[in-house]
Amino acid sequence: MQDFSHLLSEKVDAIAQQWVEAVAQDQQIKSTKNLSKTAIRDHVPHVLTALVTVLAHTQASDIKTIVEASLEHGLLRAEQGFNPTEVVREYHLLRTIIFANLRTELLQGTVEEVLRSMSLIDTVVDEAIAQCFQSYVKERLQELEQLQNQLTLTVEELRRLVRSSQENLNILAHELKTPLTSIIGYSELFIRQQRSSELKDNVTSVEHIERVLRSGRQLLHIINDALELSRYEAGRMQLHLAITNVRSIIDTIVETMQPLADKQGLKLLLDCEDAPMQVLTDPLRLQQILTNLVNNAIRYTQIGCVTIECHAFTSNQWAIAVTDTGIGIAPEDQERIFEPFARAECSTIKPHPPDSTGLGLAIVARMVKLLQGEISLTSQLGVGSTFTVILPLEVTTEVEVMATTFQ
Ligand code: ADP
Repeated sequence: MQDFSHLLSEKVDAIAQQWVEAVAQDQQIKSTKNLSKTAIRDHVPHVLTALVTVLAHTQASDIKTIVEASLEHGLLRAEQGFNPTEVVREYHLLRTIIFANLRTELLQGTVEEVLRSMSLIDTVVDEAIAQCFQSYVKERLQELEQLQNQLTLTVEELRRLVRSSQENLNILAHELKTPLTSIIGYSELFIRQQRSSELKDNVTSVEHIERVLRSGRQLLHIINDALELSRYEAGRMQLHLAITNVRSIIDTIVETMQPLADKQGLKLLLDCEDAPMQVLTDPLRLQQILTNLVNNAIRYTQIGCVTIECHAFTSNQWAIAVTDTGIGIAPEDQERIFEPFARAECSTIKPHPPDSTGLGLAIVARMVKLLQGEISLTSQLGVGSTFTVILPLEVTTEVEVMATTFQ
């Protein structure tokens, strides 16, 4: 039988190609959905070459050559949002592809040779998985640390919020309780598991970290939205007016939102031929308003499309409408939908999305008011909703005064 590491080295390109294809098409690896083939391929040839080097030497001590390649691979997969099961699946595919490529040559050897070769390949792939996981866990832990630092900073601001406004405190505390309980519970479990020598199940540990991170991010989202709202209510929101090209803002939003719409199988349509060329407004706030409305339209629509329509309204006003073919909002919910923590109860058959805070529209309504505009809603349950924002072509400079007296 030929030296199979030599065979493998001749087939590195073909195996890398097949591996990338298999990972891209595998139904169980969902994180590749928005990744290009080049992004999936990144580091793959590096890992394979390292595998070949190790196999060529067939010495256990040489197995360390795989360390660097697999560590980088794990780091990349963590950045790309792979979950632990997907990483394991990726290596399962690699093992299958390696054996499929070497099958003919392997079968020419004696039983002993075949078994020895297979066991060696298995050992090296297992080592690659272990190293890949090590860096994956490290990356996730670093994120956790960053999250903790961010949380510490926001807690300070939250304290100030608590001192200045008692109003929404009960609801806020209630909102914070669920993700916080999860963060604390899973962190404790993770630490206990790490300490216990019997429970060295990497996949389970990493899944726990994932949950901690998800809850932490959700918590931060709520806190940041609540803080943004409190800044408005305290009149601390400054506007930065500038001549703004409406069309280019809409294009930026479409570019950002298109992947989310694609993911849900929704069409994102534009009817902006009559959009004003230039307006005087705060471009950042305008972008925030529209992003929020388009994001909601996509999140609350299962089938159909989301349309952005923009045109001149009166001689000194323009209008922009975001329409969806989603779940719609019942009349009794429409009345309070712009209040903080309001969520449509009557219209939702399914639970709210995990990133729901009930604060987005409250912030949007305040920003629209700050930009001297108006927001309105027409909606029908099961048919869809249209949020229309009417804004002045030129925001007047007294806005500074408004910002400080805003209620
Ligand atoms: P959330 O983070 O919960 O989406 P929002 O303040 O953005 O917070 O929205 C408040 C509520 O209004 C949502 O929870 C949802 O029930 C409802 N809602 C907002 N936009 C839409 C929409 N386009 N279609 C149906 N319901 C919507």
